[in-house]
Amino acid sequence: MALTRAGAGSLEPSDRDIPVALPGEILVRVRACGVCRTDLHIVDGELPPAEIPIVPGHEIVGVVEVVGDGVTNLAVGDRVGIPWLGYTDGECAFCRSGRENLCVSARFTGYHNDGGYAEFAVADAAYAFKIPDAYSDVEAAPLLCAGLIGYRAYRMAGEGRRLGLYGFGAAAHLIAQVAVHDKREVFAFTRAGDDAGQQFARDLGCAWAGASNVAPPEPLDAAIIFAPVGPLVVEALSRAAPAGIVVCAGIHMSDIPSFPYRLLWEERVLRSVANLTRQDARDFLALAPRVPVKTRVQRYALADANRALGDLRDGRISGAAVLVP
Ligand SMILES: [Zn+2]
Ligand SMILES: [Zn+2]
Repeated sequence: MALTRAGAGSLEPSDRDIPVALPGEILVRVRACGVCRTDLHIVDGELPPAEIPIVPGHEIVGVVEVVGDGVTNLAVGDRVGIPWLGYTDGECAFCRSGRENLCVSARFTGYHNDGGYAEFAVADAAYAFKIPDAYSDVEAAPLLCAGLIGYRAYRMAGEGRRLGLYGFGAAAHLIAQVAVHDKREVFAFTRAGDDAGQQFARDLGCAWAGASNVAPPEPLDAAIIFAPVGPLVVEALSRAAPAGIVVCAGIHMSDIPSFPYRLLWEERVLRSVANLTRQDARDFLALAPRVPVKTRVQRYALADANRALGDLRDGRISGAAVLVP
């Protein structure tokens, strides 16, 4: 196994018999890695190409095997999560204003840095987080993107009582639990005919579940769109109450059709959410066991990563897919 990193030369553990980590970095043995829709966008070429080849995967749960010089926040044997945000410069205008998710020099796990569809992964120790004990490795994996970025989107959706979730997959099934815990009324929208998905949403406490082209029983104060489907933006705006907030939570979406201005009028807000900050990670990983957020996972062997991606593409995953080496 060769761990090759841009600018860092080639690290070949097999040459030395023990894995190595550069200063400031950790090497983890991967225990589980979630499969995120962003992985699918990368594999399908829907995002600007980064360095290829790249190992996808940014919902990594693993155990630290080696710590590089200067690492003080983690020790060998710690169980950690490695999310999408892999590096920021700490000095650009976004970093200095508490918005490192928008850092101009950001590097992302499984996109710029090799990720967790692997037996080992290397990460900057400053961007890895201890995993709450309440979760098994496999249960914890989806928290690291579906949970963290879902939670950022949830906070951007404001305080409104009636929340719509479009696309009831990995992120929505976690955020629905947080919203129900916060005494929100949650309306889940799925593909038409996805009776199992709608039942799953009701089982998690959603007040209503139905097809995405159907009107909810009440106008929405906010909606989060997790599905990468541009027409849902128009759909969600058309269901939003005055001052309603529509948040696009994905990194990629098909084109948004044109729509009449009256759908945005009355101070409705349309926005996206990009990436995560480390504070988002700290906040959500502290909150999740208190709710408690329970993850539904479908396990795949690492060798079946392509099958997992295919199942995600075709909407055959209930909850979140997780690879287990
Ligand atoms: Zn993701
Ligand atoms: Zn920056």
